Amino acid sequence: MEAPPKGMSAAAFNEFMKGEIESRYEQRDGQWVCKTCGGTVQQTTCYVSEHASEFGETHAGDGEVRRIALPYCPSCEGVPQNTSTCVHMPVLSF
Ligand SMILES: [Zn+2]
Ligand SMILES: [Zn+2]
Repeated sequence: MEAPPKGMSAAAFNEFMKGEIESRYEQRDGQWVCKTCGGTVQQTTCYVSEHASEFGETHAGDGEVRRIALPYCPSCEGVPQNTSTCVHMPVLSF
């Protein structure tokens, strides 16, 4: 899968990731496989910047950049082209 769209809230981001992973992949014998082709799922790193939701579309904020695992099927999807995104959260939660 590609990185989720930019600008979601942290909660929406987590929901999105969960939904995408459940719809695309499944665990078989302790290993993640692609639901479409049965191939072994690989993973790369997705960089998620934390931006201030108060600043909306300006994507401002000095939040941390988190690294999360981004799973993909090498056969169906190929290596993700888009591996960076951001979540927007209130400044006060930094
Ligand atoms: Zn596949
Ligand atoms: Zn942003």
